[in-house]
Amino acid sequence: MYLSKTPFVMYKMSFLFVFAYVFCMIEEIKPNLFAFYSPNLGSNSYLLIGQRTVLVDASSENNSHDLLNAFASIGFTAGEIDAVLFTHGHADHFSGAKPFEGIEFKMHKLDADYVNNKDVMYTASHLVGSKYFPKISEFLEPGGTIEFEPFNLEVLHTPGHTQGSVCFFDHKQKLLFSGDLLFKGSVGRWDLPSGNKEQLINSLNSIKNLDFEILLPGHGILVKEQQQGNIEAALKVLSGVFI
Ligand SMILES: [Zn+2]
Ligand SMILES: [Zn+2]
Repeated sequence: MYLSKTPFVMYKMSFLFVFAYVFCMIEEIKPNLFAFYSPNLGSNSYLLIGQRTVLVDASSENNSHDLLNAFASIGFTAGEIDAVLFTHGHADHFSGAKPFEGIEFKMHKLDADYVNNKDVMYTASHLVGSKYFPKISEFLEPGGTIEFEPFNLEVLHTPGHTQGSVCFFDHKQKLLFSGDLLFKGSVGRWDLPSGNKEQLINSLNSIKNLDFEILLPGHGILVKEQQQGNIEAALKVLSGVFI
């Protein structure tokens, strides 16, 4: 009997394709720090492996499967994550947290109250098309630090995109997780509920003098150089002066 090898070759090719697809979504930024880049409508998610294993943002519900596959590709399972820190209360950052239910979920209280009340409009769940709302178990304290060697994240309250937006600053590792405050050459929207352009400008000014080498934004690519120039460019976007 003749057996074609085609199905096996196709199986192998599809495996390679899936591997390559997942591989493109996750990047090792430095030892113990990985970035997951969203393939669909959803935020980036960052995996920090130290004394505890922590996620900064969890992307959106429709990215859950890809997020777990990406972690599996580097040998991690959902059960190994100890906590998720959310930069703010928008569904593109929190609705992918469902596989991690039962662990610590932390967010600033000003946004967390709306997430816990399942407020579809405030959280922009209607724009993301997600249904899942995590139960925020702890509130992030502005000025407080979350330590899990080698990481030491300072919580900076940076309202403007939402009233409860925060950044996480690691001064030793020179990292800034900026959520939707700041991207490469741009800023987050201020026209959603509790958004405020003046606060956004103040928040950008408040991070201007921080000493960080890598900006890890909520969306898009990392910024690895000229941080001050990037902030200045963002401020110019807000003042309507384009360069
Ligand atoms: Zn976002
Ligand atoms: Zn947002």
